[in-house]
Amino acid sequence: MEMARLNIFIVLLVALISNAAAVLAEPTLPTPRPVLVVQTFNKSDVGQLITQGKQFLKSGEHIKAQEVFERAIETSPDNLAAHLGLGRAMLEGGRFAKAEGQFLACTFISPRDNDARFGMAELYEHTGRFADAVLVYKQILKSRILEASDEAHANWSLRRLEYYRSLGDANSAHYVDLSEAHKWKKTAMPVRISIWSDPELKSLKDVFYKSVVRSFEQWRDASGGKVNFVVVPEQRSADIVCKLVRLVRGTRGNGLGLKAGETAQQWDETGSDAFKWSRVEVFWEDHKDARKLDAYVLHEVGHSLGLGHSSNPHDIMFPMAHPPYTGFLSERDRNSIHALYQSK
Ligand SMILES: [Zn+2]
Repeated sequence: MEMARLNIFIVLLVALISNAAAVLAEPTLPTPRPVLVVQTFNKSDVGQLITQGKQFLKSGEHIKAQEVFERAIETSPDNLAAHLGLGRAMLEGGRFAKAEGQFLACTFISPRDNDARFGMAELYEHTGRFADAVLVYKQILKSRILEASDEAHANWSLRRLEYYRSLGDANSAHYVDLSEAHKWKKTAMPVRISIWSDPELKSLKDVFYKSVVRSFEQWRDASGGKVNFVVVPEQRSADIVCKLVRLVRGTRGNGLGLKAGETAQQWDETGSDAFKWSRVEVFWEDHKDARKLDAYVLHEVGHSLGLGHSSNPHDIMFPMAHPPYTGFLSERDRNSIHALYQSK
């Protein structure tokens, strides 16, 4: 009997970090949430407001951060840190035009400020302006005074941009390479999925369950019904196991960003190239912004069905999770799953 040649392939979703030092530095404990927002301010409060705004940014509360930084700017219109913070808050909220305005304001106040440049470059990445992002990262690398963490951050970012470009035309009708793609066989439908959450993440158990089901529904509908699924209670009888896993500190980065999710797939090369099994893992931390979950899950489920990465940041299969973290498929995502499952 011929041995099956089994292939295992692992695909990653990463989340951009705003500061390279966060990965390079030793893991730190989560920042305690600020308890008090002071209602009236004078000049001496600006420093306090900025500290508070940064804490809100760290804890994923970008709307509160925005309010605090806006107040700081009212009191001190030329404060670089306040404009930078407001730009970051706007960026997190997916308000790209407003964020760009704030980063530009920073460059007027301090033309060589690398933090503002990083913000601007990330904005360009999120909006598909890759050539502009490359220019900004190169500009950072030419800084007269360049911190080691900034140099590392800019270099990874350039590698990440090379990777995006390697994924092909961002404007084609779909992003599936039909000669290379793997998928589930017609006879495997409905695929059996099981859904599991780390007991330590109990509060998200139902949220994750619903998110997984909604994700499969979206891909099923986009496939024209060719993909179908059923939830089974046991992992051992499932084709696709979906897990919400507590992120282990120290294994956060993969060189291109923070690990947000991972999908492993196995298929038989000697047969029809059809999948044997797939395992989806979404990595989570307590203080993470819950709106990101749907985007992460929808992306990983896309991999579990056979989709690779897209070079267009508007697609859920873009390799980098980014604001505004929508949990919906784009037209190209829908075209791609359709093309994959309508093909022979
Ligand atoms: Zn991915």
